[in-house]
Amino acid sequence: MQQNDSHITRITASAPVHANTHGGRAKCLQRLVRLDLPVPRTIALSFQAVHRIAAGELPDMGRLLAPFGNAPLLCVRPSSEDPDWGGPGAVLNIGINDARFAELSDRIGKQAASEIYLRFVQAYAIHVARLDPDVFEDVSEDPVLALTEALRAYEDETEEEFPQDPAVQLTEVLRSMARAWEGTTARLLRQAKGAPADAGLGLVVQELALGLGQGECGAGVMQLVDSKTGARQITGRYQSQSQGRDALRGGSDALYLERDPRGPSLEELAPEAFAEIKAYTELMRHKLREEMQTEFTIENGKVWILDGLRVARNARAAVSIAVALAQDRIISREEALMRVEPRSLNELLHRQVDPDASRDILARGIAASPGAASGRIVFSAAEAQAAEARGEASVLVRRETSPEDIRGMHAAVAVLTERGGMTSHAAVIGRGIGLPCVVGASEIHFQTRRKQLVMPDGRVFRAGDQITIDGTGGQVLAGETPLLEAARDESFQTLMSWADDIRDIAVRANADTPADAEVARNFNARGIGLCRTEHMFFDTERLTVMREMIFADSSKDRAAVLERLLPMQRADFTDLFRIMQGQPVCIRLFDPPLHEFLPTDRAGHLQLAEALDLPLSDVTRRVEALGEYNPMLGMRGVRLGITVPEIYDMQARAIFEATLEASKEGAAVVPEVMIPLVSARREVELVKTRIDAVAAAVRNETRRDFTYRLGVMVETPRAALRAGEIAPLVSFLSFGTNDLTQMTYGLSRDDAGRFMSDYVKQGVYPEDPFHTLDTDGVGELLKIGAERGRAANPDVVLSICGEHGGNPESISFCRDAGFTYVSCSPFRVPVARLAAAQLTV
Ligand code: PEP
Ligand code: MG
Repeated sequence: MQQNDSHITRITASAPVHANTHGGRAKCLQRLVRLDLPVPRTIALSFQAVHRIAAGELPDMGRLLAPFGNAPLLCVRPSSEDPDWGGPGAVLNIGINDARFAELSDRIGKQAASEIYLRFVQAYAIHVARLDPDVFEDVSEDPVLALTEALRAYEDETEEEFPQDPAVQLTEVLRSMARAWEGTTARLLRQAKGAPADAGLGLVVQELALGLGQGECGAGVMQLVDSKTGARQITGRYQSQSQGRDALRGGSDALYLERDPRGPSLEELAPEAFAEIKAYTELMRHKLREEMQTEFTIENGKVWILDGLRVARNARAAVSIAVALAQDRIISREEALMRVEPRSLNELLHRQVDPDASRDILARGIAASPGAASGRIVFSAAEAQAAEARGEASVLVRRETSPEDIRGMHAAVAVLTERGGMTSHAAVIGRGIGLPCVVGASEIHFQTRRKQLVMPDGRVFRAGDQITIDGTGGQVLAGETPLLEAARDESFQTLMSWADDIRDIAVRANADTPADAEVARNFNARGIGLCRTEHMFFDTERLTVMREMIFADSSKDRAAVLERLLPMQRADFTDLFRIMQGQPVCIRLFDPPLHEFLPTDRAGHLQLAEALDLPLSDVTRRVEALGEYNPMLGMRGVRLGITVPEIYDMQARAIFEATLEASKEGAAVVPEVMIPLVSARREVELVKTRIDAVAAAVRNETRRDFTYRLGVMVETPRAALRAGEIAPLVSFLSFGTNDLTQMTYGLSRDDAGRFMSDYVKQGVYPEDPFHTLDTDGVGELLKIGAERGRAANPDVVLSICGEHGGNPESISFCRDAGFTYVSCSPFRVPVARLAAAQLTV
């Protein structure tokens, strides 16, 4: 059956060709025609035409071929709506047959003509007749002999003569390309790249510029920037007597384009053609408003432009290209901001596995903290520290990490855990300090006692063996893998400053230590949105004092130990205030259960007994007594503040004294003090009364005044529901969506990693709710909390400080809900700044 030909269009400046009906390549070719570039005659087949071809309804070949006149050869290329969705490979040299071969041999020589015929026979045999490529494995090197052998092989395998009618050849090529697109594998592949199920394929049929023959003939590819860095530099290759992208296969005959000390160039061989191609590529950049790669052919000295493709680029190059286009006033700054995917900035902020490197993937887990690093496996924090002392890079491998491992995490170059999810301890700390981290790698058998890992394929890795952690892709790789350095270059800084100019929701950082605060400031965070003070207690000296405090028998004894912690905390806060130079700093009072600070094994108990001069049995008994069945919902947060109030008193005093200290040097510091895990108004009343009393005492003692803001962390569902009665007591409400998600779902943030991927795969949850805010459920609580809080206290400042604060989709939700700021790990601040800016465009 023949189909109506209204979907077959000759590409001219005015033809009705659109990307969503004929595909991106057809549309781009039309743009090149409009720019008056020397594009060979081209016909575009619409998605519908191709779909019908796949169904067996063929186009009118007479009409299709008419525009090509007596052009001897054609080629067909795919034209999907988005070039990233792929498509069948191009087929060149359609139309060659015995008669044309004879003519061509006269015109360009038998060798070149044989090469052309041979290529088509092979392409046709493999793509259309679906013969095994092995059939041609043994053909001779010489194209004239090889052609005879290939034709014979074709006839032997198919028991038919090689088709001689160009219309038949073209029909069959079109049909095979159309069907390839509709095949299940191709469909699944493109859907994985984001194509809709019914994505269409267009095809373009183009007169072939030969690239082989007499005079200077050949083909090549040119772009004006480097794809890895975005730096302005002519890249690409040209090869005489070649077609398509042959020159890029790295053969020794391929020439550089521009004059180059490493070897001969097209510029020297054919300076005029080189200058012409360069000028076209520059014209495309200006007129198509994009960095383009030009595919060209030279035919007896004449330049043909076959195609223009968006230059392939990694994240670093994407930033640099977008910024350069805006600086050259080719696109606006807003457009430049929109052209960079916020998450891709992670590639610039951390070292990454070189995309060209081969990967020996041992196992997969949750990509909890981006970046990549190679090191030797160690199974304890102490070994990580010892490795660091020897100047060796180590990867800390644990079933899960606990506060005791923090020093080890600082000493290691990467972390791998068996358990955990996006908000588990290792993940939060890893993101906080920019350490590559894969968690929840439960397909690996962790034999930590035997100090070995058994990989899913049975390979065993022992302490001291080298592995690479790819925290961006969530992979564990064997050995040392080549890495690309982080690249926070000038273009990155420029793009970030443009983002800040238009953003209308502030981005703060979750920063616990002076080092985190430095990172936060370098990334231009507008203050600290969450300082988890417990993280200040993990160095050896403080940990011992802290443990002493936990073991204190009476309130008096406890107060005495807290006296020793006070100057340490005061110094911490003074540092933070100084580093943040007047930007707001929100300090969360102590949150975790006390037993998290106690050792878990016998050796640890023994050490503690020695340090505190207590009998071992005493220590063991006290540790057991403090244990909880469900510590996440036990004695933590404000519950601790109410039952052991001396800790919050000490912290409040340290904050206020540091406030006065830091205010001496410049503008008055106004600290923000935040109460965690609130679920009832009365909790806030009790804590507020004590903190106000500490403030009054410090004012009295020092005879100096200061102000502070008190706030509540809304991280239990009840606090969100009762925000109306809590808000009048405070200046701000900050939603802690890690705990809020955990409690709304009844889903342990430390254990969810075990089944999360099954849940997402089976569509129970659309995504990991610890990663992307569940706007339906948890989001509803956020909205209720915000509305009720604001109704009761119109001045209350609203924000989010859970890990979702760095997630682009969640930022959009917070902006719509009218929040003042989001706060996230320091290394996610740039991603959040760009995502927030894009929301305003
Ligand atoms: C939260 O619960 O969202 C939060 C930020 O606190 P943490 O992660 O320390 O529990
Ligand atoms: Mg919390």
